[in-house]
Amino acid sequence: MNSEEFKKIGHEFVEWMAGYLENIEDYPVKPKLKPGDIYRQLPDLPPGEGESMAAIFRDFREVIVPGMTHWQSPSFHAYFPGNSSKPSVLAEMLTATLGAQCMVWATSPAATELEDRIMEWLREMVGLSTEWVGSIQNGASDATLNALLTARERASGFTTNHTGLTTNNFRVYASEQIHSSVDKAVAIAGIGRDNLVKIPVDEAFALQPAKLATAIDRDIAAGKRPLMIVVGMGTTGTTAIDPLAEIVAIGRKNNLWVHVDAALAGTALILPEMRWLAAGLGEADSFVFNPHKWMFTNFDASAYFVRDKQALINTFSVTPEYLRTAEDDRVNNYRDWGIPLGRRFRALKLWFVIRSYGCKGLQEKIRLHLQLARWFKRQVEADDRFELLAPVPLNTVCFRAIKPGASLAELNAFNENLMHRLNQSGELFLTHVKLNGVFTLRMVIGQTEVAKKHVEKAWQLIKEKAFK
Ligand SMILES: *Cc1c(COP(=O)(O)O)cnc(C)c1O
Repeated sequence: MNSEEFKKIGHEFVEWMAGYLENIEDYPVKPKLKPGDIYRQLPDLPPGEGESMAAIFRDFREVIVPGMTHWQSPSFHAYFPGNSSKPSVLAEMLTATLGAQCMVWATSPAATELEDRIMEWLREMVGLSTEWVGSIQNGASDATLNALLTARERASGFTTNHTGLTTNNFRVYASEQIHSSVDKAVAIAGIGRDNLVKIPVDEAFALQPAKLATAIDRDIAAGKRPLMIVVGMGTTGTTAIDPLAEIVAIGRKNNLWVHVDAALAGTALILPEMRWLAAGLGEADSFVFNPHKWMFTNFDASAYFVRDKQALINTFSVTPEYLRTAEDDRVNNYRDWGIPLGRRFRALKLWFVIRSYGCKGLQEKIRLHLQLARWFKRQVEADDRFELLAPVPLNTVCFRAIKPGASLAELNAFNENLMHRLNQSGELFLTHVKLNGVFTLRMVIGQTEVAKKHVEKAWQLIKEKAFK
């Protein structure tokens, strides 16, 4: 492809991108497809000869786009927001054009130094003190594994990386509602899933600290070695808020690593009125939140912060670092801050997003999402054909439709069927969670362009499909 063609096609693509975003509400949010429908339209073998960009782009529009779930639709209320924005998309084009590897300072000094700055900005935005240092990770799952490996190394005097686990009586604690990435992390880190202790939750689906304290005491008495607590600040199912300050106190008393998983909720900390979420956070050991969820930055960009930078680097650096302190270094080599060696230039899109919206612009959007969630919650509460099934501290409303005299099984089937019919309509997309055996609909409000009218439309449609 020569430069002239690149320009021409590039402009066409940008036209398409703008049109897509303008007309996104015309697409069914979730495609009506059976497994294999897309696969069958793709050739068995790769082309021998090069094809024209026109042909490739046509197939993108005709084969791929109809098979996409439209995460950027303002009527996307499923799972969690994976929101993006125009500044983020534009930055990604530049990142791809530069095509740089950003594993160490020397491989792209500006990428490292922008990441240094952006992590300071994010730290300031969410209200962490300068004791904390951060880096961009692929996702919250990676950050949680990163925290567990660091905790394991620190607890073993940085020997396990060399010897492998010699004995294993480590124990990790988290609520029954914690994200599955913790189950994965204990498996990968060699701690073992049998050593992940799931602590019961209260009626708000938050971890019960007294039960945590008892579990730790019991383990110590049995000769086990409590290692880490993972705290959910906004669990995936219901956005439950584990009582961080109390948990941190238990962690400190027993000398455990306290990791705070705020994948979604962390973004809410940019609002002064939501800082109550962070009470106790200053005494935790690590904290992760995903700008690629709720901060208008396309996947991937996960912000991972720790207080003990040296423990982190001792865990991940493959050159012996024990005798070196991080302060000796004049630069950050981010390959030593996590699992992958190769790193994309992800700070660039965060820079574009934060500068383009400004902190105020970002705050306004998050504040709107919280207001819309409260509005939706009030509709559910005011209508006796529906019930609320969990508190709404953030942007997710857990609810179901009810019918007098119906059994649990009947209500579960009724709500599951309602969800399928709603999603089949293409007008919106929402997903569910099972809470104490109850099939629960989740209405998540966090897309970049979501407005009151979309949430009103969703509520109207839910009522119609349920009761007409
Ligand atoms: C989404 C989510 C995760 C996983 O995040 P990834 O970035 O996809 O790895 C972990 N924890 C919570 C609470 C989440 O909501």
